[in-house]
Amino acid sequence: MTPERTAGSEAAGAARGPRPIPAREVRRLLDAPPGQRARVFAAADRARRAAVGDEVFLRGIVEFSNRCARNCRYCGIRAGRTDLRRYAMDESEILDAAQAMAACGVTTVVLQSGESDAFGDARFARLVERIKRETPLAVTGSCGVRPEAVFRRWRDAGMDRYLVRFETSDPRLYARLHPGDRLEARLEALARLRALGVQTGSGFLIGLPGETLETLAENILLCRRLDLDMAGIGPFIPHPATPLGGAANACASDPERFLLALAVLRLAHPRAHIPATTAFDAVFPGTGRNRALQCGANVFMPSFTPRAHRGDYRLYPGKPCVDEAPGDCAACVVGRLRLLGRPIGRGPGHAFGRRLARSRTSGTSSRTSSAAAAACDQGPAPVCSM
Ligand code: SAH
Repeated sequence: MTPERTAGSEAAGAARGPRPIPAREVRRLLDAPPGQRARVFAAADRARRAAVGDEVFLRGIVEFSNRCARNCRYCGIRAGRTDLRRYAMDESEILDAAQAMAACGVTTVVLQSGESDAFGDARFARLVERIKRETPLAVTGSCGVRPEAVFRRWRDAGMDRYLVRFETSDPRLYARLHPGDRLEARLEALARLRALGVQTGSGFLIGLPGETLETLAENILLCRRLDLDMAGIGPFIPHPATPLGGAANACASDPERFLLALAVLRLAHPRAHIPATTAFDAVFPGTGRNRALQCGANVFMPSFTPRAHRGDYRLYPGKPCVDEAPGDCAACVVGRLRLLGRPIGRGPGHAFGRRLARSRTSGTSSRTSSAAAAACDQGPAPVCSM
């Protein structure tokens, strides 16, 4: 089955969207030689349109703390980095960021931090409650693995979704790269969240040292087996201040494979929300996220982390927009989407095709979203390079 026919025949009007490609197709398409990839990208773009439409949902990310108790061997905020200034934003600063994004047409706030209880689990619950009370935003948490009772408390506070990447589907590679941690623990956390009725997001790094094409295929297939509501993937980028600083990305000689992985992910798991992650821009400066949106992605995550903290949340070098102010990122995304002819998503952008366990979910209306997008249109000209 060629990718053309796969997406072409299935895209034709099926209300449920295209059927996922089988596992053997995942392997075959990941190995597509450069000359055949344009067809895979086009097929993924069509599958995206048929399954989730043209809208691009905006999730504003606030990296509210870089405190971390883990020592992931690739990560720029790992606990072992004693040269890093550690910070935690206070509630009012985080709330200001949430209000600012709501005024810009963003309908979800993603609260991300290192994995640590330094911020305070009860304090995080109160923060979620306040955001839900004082803004129309849906709330996504992304603070690593926490005990079930904590997840439950956060859900009760109104947390709609949670992101925790499994990073790699290979348990041995996982154990090597995450001292003191097991892949199983991450997968259990995802299962607990799902059982609690929280929409779940996960994903993986592309090109971790030691990974093979088979690992990459398994990573994609695991996203599907987990039936993720959101699947976020991005290239591994060596950070010089980490133990893997001198290691090369396993796909370094063929960076287009990063985009190919994203396209195949869309074909394998058509109904997921798939973000155009920032790391794509680090590999293809100024164009990576646009290209991701053209080969499967339907979510964009502008940064609303205050400028003062961005330099201290560099997970990898070359992270874009580190010197921008939050409003700049909002204006930039409006410019990018206009260029691509894609509308901004209206409403909260919840999981497709899943009956949500609770009806607490945000009342962000289309009206709010489109009015805010119009307000943003009148903002400053796009400033990020495109
Ligand atoms: N503490 C949270 C958030 C982690 S940081 C958690 O545990 O889920 C968010 C993501 O950044 C990680 O899941 C990882 O996939 C990615 N990341 C970290 N270091 C990176 C690197 N060197 N290159 C690319 N992505 C990286």
